[in-house]
Amino acid sequence: MAIQRHKGLAEDVYGAIFNKLMTLEIAPSARITVDGLVRELEVSHTPIREALGRLEGEGLVVKTHLVGYSAAPQITRRRFDELYELRLLLEPDGARRAALRVSKGGLDKLRETAGRMGKLSGSPERPNYSGFARPDADFHDQIMEIAGNELIRDTLAHLHTHFHIFRLMYHARVTEEALSEHESLLVALSGGDELGAERAMRKHIERSRQRLLAAFA
Ligand SMILES: [Zn+2]
Repeated sequence: MAIQRHKGLAEDVYGAIFNKLMTLEIAPSARITVDGLVRELEVSHTPIREALGRLEGEGLVVKTHLVGYSAAPQITRRRFDELYELRLLLEPDGARRAALRVSKGGLDKLRETAGRMGKLSGSPERPNYSGFARPDADFHDQIMEIAGNELIRDTLAHLHTHFHIFRLMYHARVTEEALSEHESLLVALSGGDELGAERAMRKHIERSRQRLLAAFA
């Protein structure tokens, strides 16, 4: 698919490669050649190298000396367990603190983000990244922003959980359960219910873990 030349070229090239990675058109660990992408997207080397550099920073692409670029490998079971263990330590407590601090504006923004995830979930195809994993990542990030500890928020953001989850979802059962779990969380947050928010977040993360475990079966 050729990319049209315009001001947003760098962004479009990034988006095109990002989608290939997310839809596993470029499989985990597969080699990525700059020349191949130049031919396929019909753009010069510069925006391709820029996009690959950005994707490397996001942990989706790995650059190896003398070998070049490849897609990041699929998350291992061990790393997956560690990721969820860390989330369970940090996010329920973040939700508890967010219940004390959330403003009307913050709640409106959270509802809007949760709604973006809902809208596309009714389609029979696989959920696309922008309709599922991205709003889920934003939702969780906004709660941590409200919770107020920037270091914890950055730590969670740098795990890029949503990228891993999305790629795993190609091998796991995709359900809409997450939407009602988010709703329970929103109810607790809007009521200023500390313990309810903590419990709802813990339950959501534990269930998310359970749903994705199927990918390793
Ligand atoms: Zn979620």
